[in-house]
Amino acid sequence: MVFLRSMHNTSFGAPATTTPTPPDAAKASKWTSEAIVSVRVWTPSLFSFRTSRDPGFRFNPGQFARIGIATLTGGMVWRAYSVVSAAHDEHLEFFSVVIPDGKFTSRLATFRPGDCIMMEKTAYGFLTLDRFAGGDDLWMISSGTGLGPFLSILRDPVAWSRFENLILVHSVRLPEELAYRDEIAAFEKHMLSREQCARLRYVPVVTRACCPDALSARIPLLIEDGRLEKAAGAKLDLERSRLMICGNPQMASDLRDQLTGRGFRVGRRNDPGQLAFENYW
Ligand code: NAP
Repeated sequence: MVFLRSMHNTSFGAPATTTPTPPDAAKASKWTSEAIVSVRVWTPSLFSFRTSRDPGFRFNPGQFARIGIATLTGGMVWRAYSVVSAAHDEHLEFFSVVIPDGKFTSRLATFRPGDCIMMEKTAYGFLTLDRFAGGDDLWMISSGTGLGPFLSILRDPVAWSRFENLILVHSVRLPEELAYRDEIAAFEKHMLSREQCARLRYVPVVTRACCPDALSARIPLLIEDGRLEKAAGAKLDLERSRLMICGNPQMASDLRDQLTGRGFRVGRRNDPGQLAFENYW
């Protein structure tokens, strides 16, 4: 899930109704009403949900949608959610944290199939593969629900044909928060049947409990002391490595400082670098 910095947050008044009632009919054409089709609960504070998809909604893997819930007073509250599902999927899937007493997520967590949300027709964001030129290894570094956009990228055959190695790093507090492990394991099996296929290396990180098959420190430290490269079986190298980072904003900021200190650069329009970030909440 993702509350990206670029979001504008409409204040949440009285409890929301699940029937969307756009307050301003003139704006209604910016949105479509979509139904929840399934909900998957990972832990009491983490869930995924799938929605119907307007045929006109297009996105590039790594981008996010803006989702709104109507309030009883006729207002709307909006949040940004990275798309987890594949670009070709008939539905859209999203991965969310539940923020206790939060204006949006604690209500959204009560939604069930058939309940409706609003969705802007446009997808946003620059955490997309077209930020990069060249490179052999794609590092996808995430914490918490920042995993989401990388699942969509991993569902894109372009990622598998363009790189030699796909390295997915996911840092969570507790082992049970390592969501989508089965899907991640299945990616490699599925994609290996194709020609010109990258190798996926999944590096779980669990910071607040013992987890035998995961690394156990914060990602910047794991980079600093070389443990991340060792676990990934790849070096962080200016020529070979392209890095996408999504998750805790302080982690993203610390990684930006650390990696730019090693010569990596954030890509700009018409000036591709080696780094791309998505700023959550
Ligand atoms: P989290 O606290 O960011 O923890 C996920 C992983 O990131 C943990 O392994 C954590 O390590 C690590 N981490 C945290 N800060 C870091 C830093 N500065 N550098 C490197 N690694 C760092 O994320 P979460 O468990 O998904 O969510 C925790 C809280 O954040 C929730 O209570 C929620 O309210 C809030 N949240 C808000 C939003 C939002 O959109 N408003 C979205 C997601 C989460 P440690 O265990 O060492 O901290």
